[in-house]
Amino acid sequence: MTIFNLGSINADLFYALPHLPKPGETLASTEYSRGLGGKGANMSVAAARAAARAVHIGAIGDDGRWALDRLTEYGVDTRHIVQVDVATGHALILVDQAGENSIVLYPGANQAITEIQLTAALSEATDADLFICQNETNAQRMAAEMASAKGMKVAYAAAPFDADAVQAILPLLDLLILNAVEAEQLSTATGTPITALPVRDIVVTLGADGCDWHNTDTAQTLHIPALPVTPVDTTGAGDTFTGYLLAGLDQGLSMAESLTRASKAAAIMVTRHGTADVIPDLKDVLDSGL
Ligand code: ATP
Repeated sequence: MTIFNLGSINADLFYALPHLPKPGETLASTEYSRGLGGKGANMSVAAARAAARAVHIGAIGDDGRWALDRLTEYGVDTRHIVQVDVATGHALILVDQAGENSIVLYPGANQAITEIQLTAALSEATDADLFICQNETNAQRMAAEMASAKGMKVAYAAAPFDADAVQAILPLLDLLILNAVEAEQLSTATGTPITALPVRDIVVTLGADGCDWHNTDTAQTLHIPALPVTPVDTTGAGDTFTGYLLAGLDQGLSMAESLTRASKAAAIMVTRHGTADVIPDLKDVLDSGL
């Protein structure tokens, strides 16, 4: 079975600076690095690292060939990533000596997904496959409708949070994944407790406190504690968690088993600096002793 992921692909451009620039100031950066990022790309890499077949549906500009190569190298199926006439999405991440940052996000090609592209990608899917998207591309609702019409299970990671976007897609979802802040925001926007939403499975991630899984059919909530590690960088923990969760489900594990494995992968991830490039593989997770 296969995971089809409509998701963002970003270049994360890191600049180390003596201090964050003031209006009108020009500053020389002391260090620069470029990493593969974007919630979508991170989730596809996590799913592929978890030994699932992950088809990424996305878009890059003519400056994004390297991102495509990187995704391919990490085992993601990139045949449905198209090149468009807009620059690749990127995040300009300025970090000062105290670790404080300012970020400029340019969505770029991530907003250029077309119906034709979605139709072509999902024509390969069957009702045994899973579909996931997040909120860093356009066309999420359209894609979820197509996936749902095919009988695919539809998952959504409600990040970055947008009340209108999540509410538009909610009726199509089998699985909703959000962090504690997003859960609070959604609850406020809908005027309903999270557990009363019309989605069969709802997973709320709670950082170092683990996660809660609510199943609407049984009306039960299961808490899965996080694993005891010393975090050095929590960037990408949520995306790693989600990619591993989907991979587990795709591989026939139960929800509880998939969540346990996802928690282990995310715990390893917080002990590493970086994002897509350092997501642990399944062997790391199974051999970790966590
Ligand atoms: P991010 O936006 O930083 O990627 P998020 O806000 O989407 O993360 P979190 O709830 O912070 O998601 O974390 C996702 C999962 O990662 C948690 O449910 C937990 O399993 C694991 N995790 C996060 N922080 C820690 C930690 N300090 N120790 C162990 N596990 C952690």
